[in-house]
Parts: sequence; C-alpha cells; structure tokens
Amino acid sequence: MSGPILLPGATGLNGSGQPTTLGVMGGGQLGRMFVQAAQRMGYFTAVLDPDVISPAGLVSHYHIQTDYLDETGLTQLLQRCAAVTTEFENVPAGALVTLGAARPTAPSADAVAIAQDRSKEKAHLARSGVPVAPYAVIETAEQLAAVVDDLLPGILKTARLGYDGKGQVRVKTRAELAQAWAELKRVPCVLEQMLPLASECSVILARGWDGACVHYAPQVNLHRAGILAVTQAYEENMPLALADQAVAATKKIADELNYVGVLCVEFFVLQDGTPAQAALGSLVVNEMAPRPHNSGHHTLDACDVSQFELQVRTLTGLPLTQPRQHSAAIMLNLLGDLWVDDATPPWNQVLALPGVHLHLYGKLKASLGRKMGHLTVTAATSAQARVTALRAAEILGIEAF
Ligand code: ATP
Ligand code: MG
Repeated sequence: MSGPILLPGATGLNGSGQPTTLGVMGGGQLGRMFVQAAQRMGYFTAVLDPDVISPAGLVSHYHIQTDYLDETGLTQLLQRCAAVTTEFENVPAGALVTLGAARPTAPSADAVAIAQDRSKEKAHLARSGVPVAPYAVIETAEQLAAVVDDLLPGILKTARLGYDGKGQVRVKTRAELAQAWAELKRVPCVLEQMLPLASECSVILARGWDGACVHYAPQVNLHRAGILAVTQAYEENMPLALADQAVAATKKIADELNYVGVLCVEFFVLQDGTPAQAALGSLVVNEMAPRPHNSGHHTLDACDVSQFELQVRTLTGLPLTQPRQHSAAIMLNLLGDLWVDDATPPWNQVLALPGVHLHLYGKLKASLGRKMGHLTVTAATSAQARVTALRAAEILGIEAF
C-alpha cells in the first residue's frame, strides 16, 4: 500500500500560502500531544470533539465541536484536512469509513473496528499467532452457562468501551460471574482467565503506508486499580530475550492488520513455574491500542523522536527513522486524586528535582482516577531516574513503586 506524502508547512508561499492541515478525531490528551507535535513541524491542525473545552481542542487551529458521526462536522473536517488520524479507539468506525473514503486516514476504520471490540481483537491476536489469556465470549445466557471452570477465577470485561479498568469485574465463582454479567447489563463481554502476572510491559511501533516499521524498546508498566501508574523505560528494565519476543509479536500483529500509524501492544509477563506459564509461555498479549499510548509518554522527553511525531510521520507519509532513546526514563501518571480539596500539587518542589518534565493536559476539572497529566523523569542512568522519581512521588503523595 502506498500513501500520500504531505509535506509540512505552507505551500505556494508566494501565492495563496495554504498550510497543510492534519485532522484528529478526539480531543483528549493524546490528541493534544499529536496536535503539538504536528504544529511544531509546521502543520495546521483540526480537532473534532463535541467537548467545548477538550485538551486538544484548546490548542488546535480549528476545533469542530460536533458528535463523531455528525455529517456536518465530518464534512468540515474533510474540507479543512489533507489527512485524518484518531486519538482514541472508541471513535465510531463508521466515521472513519466516511473519512477514509475521502482522505488518507490512518489508522484505518478496519483496524480501529478490531481494536474497539475485545472479541474481534482476541480473534485477531490469536490469528497473529501470539498467545492470549484463555477466554470465552459471553453474549448470550447459553454462552454464560457453557463457560468452562478453567476460566475462573477470571475477569469479565465488556467487549466495547472499556478503559482504565472500567467495565471490568473480577469474579471467582459461577454465581459471581452471573451476577457480574447482570451488573454489566448483559452487554457482550469477554471472560478472561485471571493470570498470575509477574509484570506488564508494552511495545510501541509505527508502521508506514509502505509497511516499513520502527519501534521503541519495550517499557515496563505498573497498573494500580486497572489504571497505568508508572512506566519504566530504560535498557535493563526486562530480560533481553523477552523484550525481543515482545517486539517480534508486536510486528506480527501490525503486519497481519496491514496497519498504518502508531500501534501499542500491551503484554502480561507471567510468573515462572505457574501452570499458566507452562501452558502459554512467559509472554501473553493483553490488548492493543490503535494510537499512541500512555505508556509511551516518556518518548517526548527521553527519545529523539516521540511517539506523537511518529504518528505525524506515518499519517503524512514522511520517512520513519528508528527512534533513539537518549536518557533513562520513568513516567508517573498524575491522576485527579492529587488535587484533593482543590489544592494545587506542589509543582515548584517537584520541578526543583533534576530531569523532571511536567506535562499537564489543560483539564479544568479533576476527579478520582482522571488522567490530568504526567511527569517524566530523565537521567543518565536508571538508578538516578529511580531516586528522583521516588522523591517526586513522595512529594506528590504517590505510592512508591
Ligand atoms: P486500558 O486503560 O489499558 O485500555 P483496560 O480498561 O482496557 O485498560 P485491561 O488492559 O484489559 O483494561 O486491564 C487493566 C489491567 O488489569 C491490566 O493492565 C492488568 O493489570 C489487569 N488485568 C487485566 N486482565 C487481566 C488478566 N486476564 N489477568 C490478570 N490481570 C489482568
Ligand atoms: Mg489495558
């Protein structure tokens, strides 16, 4: 597949001076960082998001404030933009079909449709030959009754619209399973066996229209209550053989989808000596995100090319060069919990530490678990990054890791 080459900056500067404009579906923080990367390179940007104060809408040249399926909004986006991407996987695939018929759109509606439905996603991952957690699709009472005991204890996850652990219930018995499905309003779900995790990691890859791929080394992720809390990105963060295996699996998944854009694949690393590890191996794929990912935010400060610049480059058909990480990095997510009683966290104390990069997303309301920003600590060595990140966590009241 070949795509367009949309050069940055204004063309015909001595004539009409039209800037190349890139569009993004969704106005969250990922869209904001895409917009910032695109603007730095000289592109104009347009965001489509119904929220009048969305993080990306606030910093974009154009903000189209309509629903994702609104025909007027989509038409306006097409009029403005030379190409369109997405920043979250719950964009209705229908909207991407409309956009893709008129403009280069990456990732494609097909890839997003797979990533936004856990059943389709699992089937795709299995097709790619990468182990997944044993699971069952539960869409009917018959399927619920037919669940094999091996899947318990397990996690019941809604097939669609889950994020940050939302739409998930942990169940130990059949009775709990039935009750959990009722609580989830009997929407289509996937029941996954609860796996004995030693750790979690993810790989971020960018694949161009011509199939060329570049990637970052895997990062190790710590989740708390289903939400990413800490990402550790440096050379010795995991055994090399496992890291190689994760990268190879991510490439396979991207190739199998004929994917164009930035893709993140999240993995479980299983505990040694467990029956699950004997059956599945050490590395099991959890899920994929058809976009830049929270676990790749350190690439803004610790790498020569960020995941958001790679999103711009894949969309516009610009060359992909293998990114180089120049610093050890630890990323701490800043959740709304830090704004207890509306007090502003002591950024001045945190910024007094060496190598601290503060990113706030411009959200005007904090709530528990809401991602308000992140902080990346960069250092010459992982040990130094760790000392500083632990100190920053202590100042902010984030649990040590
Ligand atoms: P995201 O914000 O990444 O989209 P999500 O809501 O889609 O999150 P998952 O990635 O499915 O949720 O699960 C969130 C976390 O719950 C995982 O990172 C992992 O810590 C834990 N978890 C999920 N599934 C399993 C499993 N089968 N076995 C053990 N732990 C699991
Ligand atoms: Mg996840």
